[in-house]
Amino acid sequence: MEGCCIHSIGTSVDEDGCCTSCGEDLNYIAEQQEQINQLQAEKEKLLELVQAVYRKHHLSDDTFGWGELGDMLCDGLCEIMGDKKFQEWVSSKSKP
Ligand SMILES: [Zn+2]
Repeated sequence: MEGCCIHSIGTSVDEDGCCTSCGEDLNYIAEQQEQINQLQAEKEKLLELVQAVYRKHHLSDDTFGWGELGDMLCDGLCEIMGDKKFQEWVSSKSKP
């Protein structure tokens, strides 16, 4: 059977994450799927943030304040960049 397997996200695997047909270790597919899920989640988070900025900036949305928007941006950026990178970035953008 080896060589005739086409592995994808849908391939059935045993409890060790190996192909039930040829036995190849398919954990890398699960890892890739995990990364895709993470990218997707980050994309949605960014989209939410940009939409919030647009609502406040262009649609004068009063359901949240500018301060709240700032907090949302801070939280979102920290989540996506990581706290340390975010702090470094803020420092590099702050006027002396
Ligand atoms: Zn296989």
